[in-house]
Amino acid sequence: MSDFTIDDALALRVEEGFHLSDVDPSETPGFEGDSDELDEAFHSFNDLLDEEQEKLFANGRKHPETTGGILLVLQGMDTSGKGGVIRHVVRQLDPQGVHTVGFGRPTEEEAAHDFLWRVEKHLPGPGLISVFDRSHYEDVLVQRVNALAPPEEIERRYGAIVDFESRAAANGITIIKVMLHISRAFQKKNLMERLERPDKHWKYDPGDLEDRAKWERYQAAYQIALERTSTDDAPWYCVPGDNKKYARMVVKALIADALKSMELEWPEADFDPEEEKKRLKKS
Ligand code: AMP
Ligand code: MG
Repeated sequence: MSDFTIDDALALRVEEGFHLSDVDPSETPGFEGDSDELDEAFHSFNDLLDEEQEKLFANGRKHPETTGGILLVLQGMDTSGKGGVIRHVVRQLDPQGVHTVGFGRPTEEEAAHDFLWRVEKHLPGPGLISVFDRSHYEDVLVQRVNALAPPEEIERRYGAIVDFESRAAANGITIIKVMLHISRAFQKKNLMERLERPDKHWKYDPGDLEDRAKWERYQAAYQIALERTSTDDAPWYCVPGDNKKYARMVVKALIADALKSMELEWPEADFDPEEEKKRLKKS
C-alpha cells in the first residue's frame, strides 16, 4: 500500500518563494495509489487523532492555565471542499472538544468593528479545537478583489493578521491554515453538480458565478495573502484540492501533527487512587 505520512503533509507548507501558479490542483504530492489505498491512508491517522485529542481535552479540563488549543483555518474558492473537510475530518474528533464556525458577509454589527473582532471571540480555549470555514482572510481576499475596503485599509490588514496570529500562538494556540486549491475546471464540474442535484441546490448561490468570473483576481489575492502571512507561528499549507479525498487526508495529517507536537500526557490524578478504591468499596 502507498502510505502517506505527516511529513508528506508538512511538505505542502508555504515557504518563501512560493508561487500558487506552480501548484497543480490535480496532483496528490506524497501519495500514489488507488482510491481504496487512499481510504486506507485516510483512516491510518484515526487512532492518533482519537487518543491525542482526548488527551488535549482532558488537559484543558484539568490544567486550563497551561493547556493550549488548535485553530484550523479553511480557505478556498467556492466548492473547494471546506464543508467536506468538516464533514469527513472534523467529525472524527470528539464533538465536545470542537467548535466550528462559518464566516459569511459581515453583519451590520460586525462591519462596525475592526475586522478581527468577530474572529477573536472564536479562538479556541484550553484543550479545544476551533475550525474556521472561511475566516479573517476573507477581509484580504473577497474584500480586496471587490474593493470592499480602501486599499490602504486592505494593506494594513496583512500586518494586523500576522500580529493577531502571533499573539494567539504566544497564548498557546497552534495555528494551521489550509488553502484548498482547486482548478477552475473542477469548480465548474462541482457547480454543475450543485445545479443538477436537488439535494445540493442549497449550496448554490447565483453570486458564485460572479466570483468565478474573477478567478484570476482571486488567485492573485490568495498569492499575496499566502506569501505575506505564512509565518512560523501560523504557517499556510497549500493543498491540491481536485482530489477531495486526498485533500481531506492532508488536513487530517496536519491536525495529527499539531496534536503530536504538543507531546501531551494524561493528567495525573490529584488524589490517591488506592485510597479512593478503599473508600469506594466501603461505600
Ligand atoms: P459560503 O462560504 O460559500 O457559504 O459564502 C460565504 C460568503 O460570504 C462568501 O461569498 C464569502 O466571500 C463572503 N464573506 C465571508 N467573509 C466576508 C467578509 N469579511 N467580507 C465580505 N464577504 C465575506
Ligand atoms: Mg458559496
